[in-house]
Amino acid sequence: MKLNELKPGQSARIEEVGGEGALRQHFLDMGVIPGAEIALVKRAPLGDPLEFRIHGYELTLRVADAEKISAALLEKAAKAAPETGSAGEEKKSKRVRTAHPGLGEEGIFHPKGSGDPLPEGTLLTFALVGNQNSGKTTLFNQLTGSNQHVGNFPGVTVDRKDGGIRGYSNTRITDLPGIYSMSPYSREELVSRNFVLEDRPRAIINIVDATNFERNLYLTMQLLEMDVPMVVALNMMDELRGNGGTVDINRMEAMLGIPVVPISAAKNEGVDELVRHAVHIAKYQEKPLRQDFCGAEDHGGAVHRALHAVSHLIEDHAKRAGLPVRFAASKLIEGDSLIMDQLQLDPNEKDMLEHIVLQMEKERGLDHSAAIADMRFEYIRKVSDACVIHPRESREHLRSERLDRVLTGKYTAIPMFILIMGLVFFLTFFLIGPFLQDLLDQGIGLLKDLVSRAMEAGHVNITVQSLVTDGIFEGVGSVVSFLPLIVILFFFLSLLEDSGYIARVAFVMDRSLRRIGLSGRSIVPMLIGFGCTVPAVMSTRTLPSDRDRRMTILLTPFMSCTAKLPIYGFFVNAFFPGYSWLIITGLYLLGILIGILTARVFRKTLFRGEAVPFVMELPNYRMPSPRNVWQLLWEKARDFLHRAFSVILIATIVVWFLKSFDFRFNMVEDSQGSMLSVLAGTVAPLFRPVGLDDWRIVTSLVSGFMAKESVVSVMEVLFRGGLETLGTLSAACMLVFSLLYTPCVAAIAAIKREMGGKWALEVVLFQCAVAWIAALAVRLIGLALGMG
Ligand code: GDP
Ligand code: MG
Repeated sequence: MKLNELKPGQSARIEEVGGEGALRQHFLDMGVIPGAEIALVKRAPLGDPLEFRIHGYELTLRVADAEKISAALLEKAAKAAPETGSAGEEKKSKRVRTAHPGLGEEGIFHPKGSGDPLPEGTLLTFALVGNQNSGKTTLFNQLTGSNQHVGNFPGVTVDRKDGGIRGYSNTRITDLPGIYSMSPYSREELVSRNFVLEDRPRAIINIVDATNFERNLYLTMQLLEMDVPMVVALNMMDELRGNGGTVDINRMEAMLGIPVVPISAAKNEGVDELVRHAVHIAKYQEKPLRQDFCGAEDHGGAVHRALHAVSHLIEDHAKRAGLPVRFAASKLIEGDSLIMDQLQLDPNEKDMLEHIVLQMEKERGLDHSAAIADMRFEYIRKVSDACVIHPRESREHLRSERLDRVLTGKYTAIPMFILIMGLVFFLTFFLIGPFLQDLLDQGIGLLKDLVSRAMEAGHVNITVQSLVTDGIFEGVGSVVSFLPLIVILFFFLSLLEDSGYIARVAFVMDRSLRRIGLSGRSIVPMLIGFGCTVPAVMSTRTLPSDRDRRMTILLTPFMSCTAKLPIYGFFVNAFFPGYSWLIITGLYLLGILIGILTARVFRKTLFRGEAVPFVMELPNYRMPSPRNVWQLLWEKARDFLHRAFSVILIATIVVWFLKSFDFRFNMVEDSQGSMLSVLAGTVAPLFRPVGLDDWRIVTSLVSGFMAKESVVSVMEVLFRGGLETLGTLSAACMLVFSLLYTPCVAAIAAIKREMGGKWALEVVLFQCAVAWIAALAVRLIGLALGMG
């Protein structure tokens, strides 16, 4: 039978995995291999995709992909029995004998090196590598400490976070994107792989989620082949032990040949010991004691012999290309074309490789990729059997199941989604936000009064006074007062993301998004887009196909970002007081609607083809750690203030200057005669059809290109209270135009980084055109209704 024919609750044993190329490799890497047991948990509310349980975790597959996998139905009784009876007893006794059962004790397996340490003062670089949701960010924050300098390095290929380890000078740890394997399925995987291969960290800290042991170790097995000193941080031990499970650490260290340190990143247990081990192996360059996990007896040793034969065959080429031999060999057998190109094999050698692989497939009865994946899982099974006392059904999993009954339930999922998002927006923009904003506003007002009185008393030059009060306080001040709104929205978005809910949203919405030619994964960048387009564009890296990334990047700017809020607030207060909730919601919806229309149009033209497959892990719900949330908010607030006092301040001062002086540098009474009015007046005709041909508006829109918030600060400076002259209809056009027109410079830079300059330019032109047309439509409708 095919996997999609399973009924909820039924289990099956996988027999054959169809499909091809990178997608099939991804199935295998996620543990969907022949012989594995898999159970259908549920169907998404709209019937597609499906949620499966395999290797003790939840995985989503679309119906069309599940059709490619055949399996044999298992009787209920055959479901893996929990550890009871003799096997369980035996394991329990092992737990008593365990020499290293708990958190924070020194391992005894790991010999303290006495060889040649790296010279004093060498920078010890570490890569933090692990699956998504294994606790990398939490550990990173613990290691670096929130008062450490943490920088974002959004480079061309690398999107990573660096920081020094607290208490150790000359260390640098890099938080890499979460990955499942070293096959380049998505760009993030390639980024992480290249980081290890090319940047050559001194050591790897591999974070492994102990509650999801088998799937996490799959990456570990591949990392071991990189031949770089490595320590495993076995995370979430609190949860595992809380549910009656444990791990025989010493046995695990012996079986893997590397130090393993049990930790709980969230509770900061075992982290100090982890650091000691990590620094030690980096300093003494202690490489893994073994990389060779293929058994000579495993299924007649076919895979074992093939791997070793290929290793010998390519040894010289791998050395020349600077690749770890064992890694190159297993990637070659898996059919990794990037490695193939790098190795530059002779035609003869390619022939031999092909023969070796064919022979292996024949003897093993599995194709090349499945055989390698199976070999890895086979060893992982051995490690797991020997070292892990599995917990009973964990509380966290039961809790997740209960929550999912509602949050991904057939009839409740979509109403809950709407309710949750509605609540977030209501709390942000209605309840908490405005309150804090008022408070901040009053504070800024007081400060302004104080400063201007002081300046008057001190007889400060009148021009400087005008600059400070009209320019800086009016402009930057009005922007800064939006800080609370932005921080609160990010707070909720990060709660949703960290708790694991966003993954469910992707699961529930996949089917709907497919109608517009995208996959459920695109919902993540889009929701982040409501916070800020820059991280949203960056988060599209998790999407495995370029087509989906392009399309998602094109649509995210339509999701109204928080920087546009000041604009809405400003106009709504002035023209539509009392309707703020309605109008702001309407604008958000309009943005989404236009995004959908755009997608529908482009789906048939620019973005032909199918959306990426939807193979995704659904992690257990977890309480987000306050520390992570706090750190994120702090970063966002700092970022925002930094922008307010750099870009926005400069834009405000420039605008103030241009509007206060004429071309002979005389101060003008009325800004009508200023440089600004002349300059902006030349562009204004473009905006005549949409009724926005006032030079002051044009100027503010242009400065909004630098940062959206400065639309308000510039208008504040230029109109100085005379805003009413604009008229209600123009205000409405302005709102719609601001919603849709070009993303800010930072967002464009992010798009350029991801997709190249040409695409970035096209996005800008496209958005401006859409904005112009939409504003025109609003004006025509308004005129027809007799407004204006
Ligand atoms: P990342 O995706 O690998 O960066 O993972 P995060 O650091 O965002 O962590 C994922 C989730 O696991 C968050 O909700 C954390 O609060 C939680 N978490 C991380 N470490 C631990 C731990 O040691 N114990 C428990 N119980 N939860 C943890
Ligand atoms: Mg993270």
